[in-house]
Amino acid sequence: PFHKSKGQHILKNPLLVDSIVQKSGIKHTDTILEIGPGTGNLTKKLLEAGKSVIAVELDPRMVLELQRRFQGTPYSSRLKVIQGDVLKCDLPYFDICVANIPYQISSPLTFKLLSHRPLFRCAVIMFQREFAMRLVAQPGDGLYCRLSVNTQLLARVNHLLKVGRNNFRPPPKVDSSVVRIEPRKPLPPVNFKEWDGLVRICFNRKNKTLGAIFRQKGILALLEKNFKTLQALQLTSDGFDQDSEIAQSLSALGNTLGDMNIDAEEEGKDNDDDDDMEMDDGDSKGSEFKNKILGVLKSGGFEDKRASKLAQADFMHLLSLFNKAGIHFS
Ligand code: SAM
Repeated sequence: PFHKSKGQHILKNPLLVDSIVQKSGIKHTDTILEIGPGTGNLTKKLLEAGKSVIAVELDPRMVLELQRRFQGTPYSSRLKVIQGDVLKCDLPYFDICVANIPYQISSPLTFKLLSHRPLFRCAVIMFQREFAMRLVAQPGDGLYCRLSVNTQLLARVNHLLKVGRNNFRPPPKVDSSVVRIEPRKPLPPVNFKEWDGLVRICFNRKNKTLGAIFRQKGILALLEKNFKTLQALQLTSDGFDQDSEIAQSLSALGNTLGDMNIDAEEEGKDNDDDDDMEMDDGDSKGSEFKNKILGVLKSGGFEDKRASKLAQADFMHLLSLFNKAGIHFS
């Protein structure tokens, strides 16, 4: 009866459901958003803990089952079920999101939530274990990646609970973890397109030095093109401190960042064979721009640093140095 393609793995351990609800810190005044309620095991406990639940479910059969389950109970007036794809529908106001989601939507959903306004208090979500570990990874951790940096720019992220695959029916192929995501308020004053543009480049070869990465022809060509376009447009804005830019880049956030699934991770393999030969292309104009870029890296002491070890404040500092030199990433 369960659809694999819809990621239907039902939580069958009531103690675990209790534990998730308890760790969410739901208040009795809370409007709760649940994504993928399925047969409603979590929904029931959410209704007991909060004021109301809005549940978004893709599968019409599950929607029916859910409605049947709560029909004629005191809960039914406090439950609203929206049938549809959570990635495509407009989300209503909610205070807190608690969900056992289908894992294939992890990344786009996370950034859809983080770009939702007004900001919610927190989201407590079950993810595939590896995705969860990437979300919370710190500089120096093996799984530290673009997803970690971008999520942690927008939110505080904590690992709450390890969940073995046998807590589900049918059991998925991977273990899971529950993570708490608390949006930062206020958000750091940074243009997210610029931010993600820089972070993307740095993590392209996350164990390479930034000096080596920014010597690559392709990267230099891209940045020089941006540089010339902006010069032509005489744009003077930098990536910082402009509210309108924040709003603008936020709306683009879902699109830019939504593609960060584990499988789709575009990190390179860190084999050192390809671009070290590109140190000198003999083009004097090209080297002039290259020197500008390397000068920025040197000025902040970044030339020998690697993305895998850089903290949020380092990326912030590097972006501001680049932007001050007129170098842009979007
Ligand atoms: N919450 C239930 C539980 O814990 O027992 C079921 C969780 S199951 C992992 C994921 C649920 O999300 C399924 O009911 C599935 O039909 C639904 N779903 C899948 N893709 C969805 C989407 N794009 N939007 C909303 N719901 C979706």
